[in-house]
Amino acid sequence: MAQRSPRKSLQLNRANTPINFSGPMQDVNVISDHMLKVEWRNGLGWSNPQIIQSGPIALHPFAHVFHYANECYEGMKAYIDSNGNVRMFRPEKNMERLNFSASRLCLPAFNGEELLKCIEALLKVDKEWIPRKKGYAMYLRPLIFSTTPWLGLTQTSEAHLYVMMSPVGPYFKSGFVPIKLAVDSKWIRAWPGGTGNVKFGGNYSPTVMAQRDAANAGASQALFVYDKEQYITEAGTMNIFLFWKNNMGEIELVTPSLEDGTILAGITRQSVIDLAREWGECKVTERMLPLQEVLDAFIREDVYEIFGTGTAAVIQPISSISYDGIDYSVPKNAFSENAFQVRMTNTLTAIQYGEIDHPWSRVV
Ligand code: PMP
Repeated sequence: MAQRSPRKSLQLNRANTPINFSGPMQDVNVISDHMLKVEWRNGLGWSNPQIIQSGPIALHPFAHVFHYANECYEGMKAYIDSNGNVRMFRPEKNMERLNFSASRLCLPAFNGEELLKCIEALLKVDKEWIPRKKGYAMYLRPLIFSTTPWLGLTQTSEAHLYVMMSPVGPYFKSGFVPIKLAVDSKWIRAWPGGTGNVKFGGNYSPTVMAQRDAANAGASQALFVYDKEQYITEAGTMNIFLFWKNNMGEIELVTPSLEDGTILAGITRQSVIDLAREWGECKVTERMLPLQEVLDAFIREDVYEIFGTGTAAVIQPISSISYDGIDYSVPKNAFSENAFQVRMTNTLTAIQYGEIDHPWSRVV
């Protein structure tokens, strides 16, 4: 009988050897040497946080997270500035969102400021792992999940919190690379009263199929809509913005509002809104956005720019939206140096890397 192959071990880079950043960021599957671990038990609360060697973890096969998806997570980055300081971008917002997600899933919260102190300690231990080039960063993945070890779906009695880290390269190595979106009216990502505004796995695994369909339609990401009005919600795992002349003839930056709970409250999204309001160049609006209104604006040639926002790419330019067999494209100058999205990207990255002194950048 053929021998079974040995278990694959987690890909670790224990020797701190330089990492090859040649691939796009999604290819990065390296974990830094250490991770943070804290355990929670009902009645006892959280244990002392520990920084431990990264590696596989053992869990009871009935652990609720495997069966009922009781887990939530965050995605954030740490950057090194030109003086060698480690910086994080509005990390308290990630802590708030983590606790918001945890409360929606009846998972225990962890004091945000205390968790940030633990994350800072972890970053100091694995500082050598943080890439030192502009555009590169350490991606941080805080995660809380229920380890409650029995079959019945009950309140959480036990949970774990981990923070893992992975060095990441620039999303695009040679400047802006716009992507295409395909409207997905078949698979609904989120709906009012659901969990669209919660960062938990249950929102993500069903979108793998939508992503596959988008790829089959020649696009990079699905543009999610819902309801008869086909309200635009998110582009893949990004928030979405339009810079356009609206149907009142006003130059406007518009993004779907958070009011019905279908959209993740992105930290990049909020930062773009805040900076655009500060710049005062255009009206800045958060509201429900029916797809037809956007298609009509394309036909009038009033859509100047469309972009996605998120921690991974900061700003992801979008070249076209395909719907019902038609491609609706933005003009070529949407990606020029003076374009709104290009200036916004430059400002945000300058804040993240400490080139502009700004309260959003926290020195570790
Ligand atoms: N929407 C979804 C569904 C996401 O997963 C993300 C990434 N966290 C975003 C939007 C962007 O959020 P942020 O700007 O905080 O990264």
